[in-house]
Amino acid sequence: MFTIDDLADRLGGYLPPDEIQQVKRAFYYAEQAHDGQRRRSGEPYVTHPLAVANILANMHMDHQSLMAAMLHDVIEDTGVSKKALEAQFGKPVAELVDGVSKLTQITFEDKAVAQAENFQKMVLAMSRDIRVIIVKLADRLHNMRTLGALRPDKKRRIARETLEIYARIAGRLGINTIRIELEDLSFQAIHPMRAERIKRAVASARGHRRSAMREIQSSLQKSLDDDALNGTVVGRQKHLLSIYKKMRDQRKPFAEIMDVFGFRIITEDVASCYRILGVVHNLYKPVPGRFKDYIAIPKANGYQSLHTTLFGSRGMPIEVQIRTREMEAMANNGIAAHWLYKAGQTSHPIAEGSHARARAWVKGLLEMQRHAGDSLEFIEHVKNDLFPD
Ligand code: GDP
Repeated sequence: MFTIDDLADRLGGYLPPDEIQQVKRAFYYAEQAHDGQRRRSGEPYVTHPLAVANILANMHMDHQSLMAAMLHDVIEDTGVSKKALEAQFGKPVAELVDGVSKLTQITFEDKAVAQAENFQKMVLAMSRDIRVIIVKLADRLHNMRTLGALRPDKKRRIARETLEIYARIAGRLGINTIRIELEDLSFQAIHPMRAERIKRAVASARGHRRSAMREIQSSLQKSLDDDALNGTVVGRQKHLLSIYKKMRDQRKPFAEIMDVFGFRIITEDVASCYRILGVVHNLYKPVPGRFKDYIAIPKANGYQSLHTTLFGSRGMPIEVQIRTREMEAMANNGIAAHWLYKAGQTSHPIAEGSHARARAWVKGLLEMQRHAGDSLEFIEHVKNDLFPD
């Protein structure tokens, strides 16, 4: 079983001892407060906040976020007051816990008005401190991982809300690792049979295509090495929900989805990205109209990369992404990369830019809220922004 000492060991990699001590103190406080309470699985309740903190630790989030994760259910579930938390752990942590608790009370029902008001509450909570939503995303992720024996209808309701609200917010903030996992867990809860079928198909296709993919990977790597270009070629795989959506939208069977597997090339700097693109296009002909330069023109969530599709051997199209190491960190962690770099004490322009962009997004939402005539009008704006498709 994962313990607080395991977490503390992990934190030793990026936090100073006094901050680790504070995280431990928050854990023991939560353990006391939840004493006697259990998760549906039968485990002591505190295993949940500990797991949420661990998710955040993997993203190198700061100690206050981790403390808030430890304490995120004590106001709601144990009757501890915000004031008491403030006295114990200081104002920022108490505010974070309060913010996360408020989000927890929000359920997104279908009734438009209730949903609109809930969105407003969520935007307000985010605008005070964006870490509130990051802690909440980690909380939802762990709950999705442990949906387990819940009644199927309840499972589906939570999964739908996760897909429609939380996965999209994760995407909007560029926290792709969490978005992908939330999407696949939701998909598996809503359509267990379809998810299982795709999973099996991917596993078997991986077997079939392995030798062809290996061949392409080594010829890509070799041509980089021949040109003395610093770059690492890695394989990547589309996640279940995106495969499913593509099959559904294009009415194609799995066998006709050609981009289940692709490649990513990670390099040092922007100039190398463009040089590598040249080498790659020289090796395999590019498919016309499929080149995208998200380095020069980043996506709204800050995502940066070059995308191209090549004609591989036997006409099989191969998707290739080319980006720097920092862009890779941003692509996985989005706004959370801000803390990733802060922990290393080197502020990074890409991470700073992402943080600024996220703040601007939330600020824009607040502005809209101020100017919208009523909450329904506001929700229309937010929906268009959050759910462009
Ligand atoms: P395009 O058709 O080349 O513009 O790209 P798509 O939007 O179809 O995305 C293709 C692939 O690029 C996805 O499967 C992801 O791997 C990656 N990608 C695209 N947008 C993002 C993003 O915002 N964040 C991250 N992390 N990856 C993205």
